Amino acid sequence: MSASADSAIDPPFDAAAARQTVLERIAGAARKAGRDPGEIALVAVSKQQPDGRIDAVLAAGQRLFGENRVQEAQARWPKRRRVHPDLHLRLIGPLQTNKAPDAVALFDAIDSLDREKLARALADAAQKAGRCPDILIQVNTGAEPQKAGVLPQDADAFIQIARETFALPVRGLMCIPPVNEEPAMHFALLAKIAARNGLAELSMGMSGDYETAVRFGATQVRVGSALFGARA
Ligand SMILES: *Cc1c(COP(=O)(O)O)cnc(C)c1O
Repeated sequence: MSASADSAIDPPFDAAAARQTVLERIAGAARKAGRDPGEIALVAVSKQQPDGRIDAVLAAGQRLFGENRVQEAQARWPKRRRVHPDLHLRLIGPLQTNKAPDAVALFDAIDSLDREKLARALADAAQKAGRCPDILIQVNTGAEPQKAGVLPQDADAFIQIARETFALPVRGLMCIPPVNEEPAMHFALLAKIAARNGLAELSMGMSGDYETAVRFGATQVRVGSALFGARA
């Protein structure tokens, strides 16, 4: 089905209004928690969204985007970056070591570092490229077997290895709580691990729970469907 046929069925997409609503809810949650709303960045998760919606969100002023696949991001962003040099792209999904050079070339930040082999691949790629994206370490706060991320009990040691052995610019932590659990305890755990390791950035909270994440100290929330509408 063509895009125009789709838009004849769907309600019109008002990107500016959707973005404004999310920003206001972030600010409201921040103020309620006694935080400065300016401390929290909105990462617009554009994976699997149609071009028209992405361009509309760009036109509404959004410049920070998150993608979970390198190849999809490569198809989507380089041409848009030529038009918007102030774009900022974060990789929020799992990364294969053989894609590390592509990821280092494209992204401003990689939020899913979770193993030594990948730390080595990123350090090598960064050295060759002469630049390194900011790095977040993903923590599997729910210790789910199918989920990426270092286990909470291994986090301190891994943070140290990433920083010291591989000299990576580790800025903070990222988590995706288990779907059927109260996210607050996972956000609190992530914040605690970050604090004891002197890490400032906390990427946590998605469409369903970003206000809770702000309450627990998120500095970046990753919002997809609440901003763009449901994914294809
Ligand atoms: C898809 C995705 C999101 C956004 O999910 P929504 O529920 O649509 O907001 C956030 N973080 C990660 C890691 C994702 O893969």
